[in-house]
Amino acid sequence: SAATTKECLPHGRLIVLTGPSGVGKGTLMRVLLQRHPELYYSVSMTTRSPRSGEINGKNYYFVSRSKFEQLVAQGEFLEWAEFAGNYYGTPREVVLNQVNSGKLVVLEIELEGARQIRASFPSAHSIFILPPSFEELEKRIRGRAQDSEEAIARRLRRAQEEIQAADEFDVQIVNDDFETALNALEAELFG
Ligand code: 5GP
Repeated sequence: SAATTKECLPHGRLIVLTGPSGVGKGTLMRVLLQRHPELYYSVSMTTRSPRSGEINGKNYYFVSRSKFEQLVAQGEFLEWAEFAGNYYGTPREVVLNQVNSGKLVVLEIELEGARQIRASFPSAHSIFILPPSFEELEKRIRGRAQDSEEAIARRLRRAQEEIQAADEFDVQIVNDDFETALNALEAELFG
C-alpha cells in the first residue's frame, strides 16, 4: 500500500529480512549488528505499545495511530503494514539516504511490507527466516509472555499464512540452530 513506482538504488544495497513473528529474526538481527556495526539497521515506527525494556528511538519509534496515519498520507513510509492490530512502517527518507550513501541497509519487517519492498525495489535482496516447525514457532511465540492470549492467537494465525509465502523470497534460512542460521545470514550479506 506504500510505494508503487519502481525506484532504483544507485550505490548501497537494501536487504529485506522477513519471516513470521517469533522466528527469531530480531535476535539474529541484534547479533548481526553487534558483529557488523557498519550495517545500517532501519528503526521502524509502530503504533504498538512498548514492551518492557524497549526504548523509543532504538527498538522502534512509538507513535499514535493518528500520527502514523498522518505520516502515511504525507508519503513518509517506504512501506507500511498493519500487523496484529497495529501499524508498522519503514521511514522513507533516512533509509534512502543511507542506501544512497553506500550503506548496506537491513529492514526487518513482516510479509506485507517485504512484498511492497520487493515490488518497489527489484534489486533488493530478500531473505525469509523459517522456523524448524510450526510447533516450535508456537512454543517461541507463547514463551514471549508479554503478549495477551488474543495477541498470541492472532500472531499464530498470521505466522501460518506467512510461512506459506517463504518461496516468494530470494533465500530461505531455517532458524533451528542459532549459530548455523547466523552463519547462513552472514554468508548472504557478506559472502
Ligand atoms: P513486534 O510487534 O513483534 O515487534 O513486530 C511484529 C512484526 O512486525 C514483526 O514481524 C516485525 O518484523 C514486523 N515489523 C517491524 N517493523 C516493521 C516495519 O517497519 N514494517 C513492517 N511491514 N513490518 C515491521
